[in-house]
Amino acid sequence: MKQVKKAAIPLDLAGLGSAEGDSKSWRVQVELPAAIGTEDMAVPAGETLDLQVLAVAISEGVSISASGQARTQGECVRCLELVEKDIDFSLSRVYYYPDELAHLLNEVSGDSSMYAELDEVYQVCPDSRVDLEPLLIDAIVPQIPYSVLCSPDCPGLCPDCGIALAHAEAGHHHEKIDPRWSALKGIFDQEGDKNA
Ligand SMILES: [Zn+2]
Ligand SMILES: [Zn+2]
Repeated sequence: MKQVKKAAIPLDLAGLGSAEGDSKSWRVQVELPAAIGTEDMAVPAGETLDLQVLAVAISEGVSISASGQARTQGECVRCLELVEKDIDFSLSRVYYYPDELAHLLNEVSGDSSMYAELDEVYQVCPDSRVDLEPLLIDAIVPQIPYSVLCSPDCPGLCPDCGIALAHAEAGHHHEKIDPRWSALKGIFDQEGDKNA
């Protein structure tokens, strides 16, 4: 069995009994060492998350549930404005004891579909800690919108001058009339005024 790398977001399970069914529920604050999200939108690194955690001892390891809220930041794909969105997340994962995990991984080699969640990152470390980072990634990333928009009907940027149309004057546009028609332009503008 490979040595597990140092937990990015360690969660101490001290106080949790090892008998099946023993459980412990508590609140914990964790600071993210790295951003969690997609290229378009993420919870920034350094953010502190307030988590409600439930740990339940099972025969193969410990089932960990974590839920909380996080503020994601991204950029509107149309107008490039900063977009902030609060998301709620909640997820449970089984963290296996190392020998149990090695056994399971050995058993399912070739049939990974059955144990899609089997991963060395979900493992109880010898010092009875687990790494919450993979769980938070799995909990948060699916909540991030596929297409980041400041509002569902964001008009985007003006193709001519690049201004965000949401902040431009109503009807923002640029006259692009062939000079040969400029004599007629005055007439069109008068028509427009009448209709306004
Ligand atoms: Zn926008
Ligand atoms: Zn413009």
